[in-house]
Amino acid sequence: MTTAVVGANWGDEGKGKITDMLAKDADIVIRYQGGANAGHTIINNYGRFALHTLPSGVFYDHTTNIIGNGVALDITKFCDEMSNLIDLGVPTPKVLISDRIQIVMPYHKEIDCFEEERLKGEMFGSTKSGIAPFYSDKYAKIGFQVSELFDDDILIPHLKKVLEIKNVLYENLYNKPKLSLCDMVEKTHYYRDEIKKYVCDTNEFLQEAIKSNKRILLEGQLGTLKDTDFGIYPMVTSSNTLAGYASVGAGIPPYEIKEIIAVTKAYSSAVGQGEFVSELFGTQGEELRKRGGDKGEYGATTHRPRRVGWYDTVASRYGVKTQGATCVALTVLDVLSYLDEIKVCVAYNINGEETKKFPTTPLLKKSQAVYKTFKGWKCDIRGIREYDKLPKECKEYVEFIEKEIDTKIKYISNGPGRDEIIYRS
Ligand code: GDP
Repeated sequence: MTTAVVGANWGDEGKGKITDMLAKDADIVIRYQGGANAGHTIINNYGRFALHTLPSGVFYDHTTNIIGNGVALDITKFCDEMSNLIDLGVPTPKVLISDRIQIVMPYHKEIDCFEEERLKGEMFGSTKSGIAPFYSDKYAKIGFQVSELFDDDILIPHLKKVLEIKNVLYENLYNKPKLSLCDMVEKTHYYRDEIKKYVCDTNEFLQEAIKSNKRILLEGQLGTLKDTDFGIYPMVTSSNTLAGYASVGAGIPPYEIKEIIAVTKAYSSAVGQGEFVSELFGTQGEELRKRGGDKGEYGATTHRPRRVGWYDTVASRYGVKTQGATCVALTVLDVLSYLDEIKVCVAYNINGEETKKFPTTPLLKKSQAVYKTFKGWKCDIRGIREYDKLPKECKEYVEFIEKEIDTKIKYISNGPGRDEIIYRS
């Protein structure tokens, strides 16, 4: 049985917590897209962790954790994350890396920084992890598959060719000193030695796993609204965040993905720039940001303050449906307990007309939120494990969202910890 855990919104929905929780019953956990540009926060018996590259199954000794071919692998960050876990007392996890994965090169990260410098005010809000230059090179067919690191006869001529192109940019567009082949060979040899023991044919491994009915969890990064094709282009990420892409980025037949759990937060949050119709500003926004998540709404990778807002059923229905969700996990519901009144965006007003359809970016820029107001429940709901024990107002809020997004809310998360969950049958 294969299940995908994906984001329905802008990312940071709490996918890490849900994956960590479900990994208890999984044999294999796989990351299939994105890179070290976003983090999953996980709180469990070992402590509080922000995972950027490692799959969220690394805390269990019965799981095999796979970094799939669709991921942008930053070898330095991967190694740092592994040693950090071990230093904090987590038993060495079993990790496999696809031999078809491509690697983030040092110039990808530098180009990200140079581009932000060049664009000044018009920047995209990159996390400077090299993700856009990495995926550009992958699809321009000048990227490096990890397997090339093990063959200098292929690696060195390839490096020479690519540096020719990069050095034109370095010198003429960015005004920077040229990259040296010698340095790059040294770095890639270092990468090779660090990564060697993890690299294998994960495609074959997964074919066998499927044959023997292993329980597989696919872990998405970011959410629908950051998907390159279906998100708020151009303020999107450079890979597809949809469950559908998991088939490509992990190497799993599409028909094997039986369950798709879309994670959506009980209010909205987004990091970086881009359209956000139900955004809250001023003291209301500041209060929610301070109280949000487990330690306030600040990015797990960049620590940037996240933008926050009311729950947006227009964006979320689109996010859930585009993921093809079979059910939903609604997270951080406990955070809203302080509010007297809670608003929910139920439609967009575009040029005087109301719609429940999530539009493309030019119309999104003109969209204004139409709100419905709910009475708050005004009591702490952490510690509750049965749905029926939630306050009436809280259930009304959940059931309204469920109706609007037209998908069963199967899990309600009412605290950041692994066990802080309510199952709804
Ligand atoms: P991800 O990238 O989707 O895994 O999300 P992040 O880790 O970036 O952000 C989610 C934040 O919410 C983290 O700080 C989590 O610890 C926290 N979190 C997850 N679920 C809950 C919940 O139900 N309640 C509270 N208070 N915090 C939660």
